[in-house]
Amino acid sequence: MLEHVRGELIRKMKELQGTLNRTDVRIKDGSERMADFVDQAAAEHDRTVELMIRGRESEQIREIHETILLIDQGRFGVCCQCCKAISPKRLLLAPMSRLCASCKQKLELSSRIGDRPVDSGVYHHVN
Ligand SMILES: [Zn+2]
Repeated sequence: MLEHVRGELIRKMKELQGTLNRTDVRIKDGSERMADFVDQAAAEHDRTVELMIRGRESEQIREIHETILLIDQGRFGVCCQCCKAISPKRLLLAPMSRLCASCKQKLELSSRIGDRPVDSGVYHHVN
């Protein structure tokens, strides 16, 4: 299953890199490096991350890249909130999940509350 996810991620990353190369022709010497990007990824991680942080594509590439690193380090599929294993089913659907289903739900719930103007009843002045 890990191999499958990893393969999918690499495929997606290359796809995104293609888009990025088209949109940013200035990184010329990068194009050659892209071929064995994944192998060199660990060594060039910091530099690459800096280079890549531009636009949504590069943000996605960064996420995919980090996920691949997690797979390689054997830390893939662990919830970053509660450190429990994320269900394989969930990972197949959303490989970049960093949260287990229940933590994600909590996060979504709290952000939904955050979006809404706070009801006057909630605010109680504490003296
Ligand atoms: Zn969790």
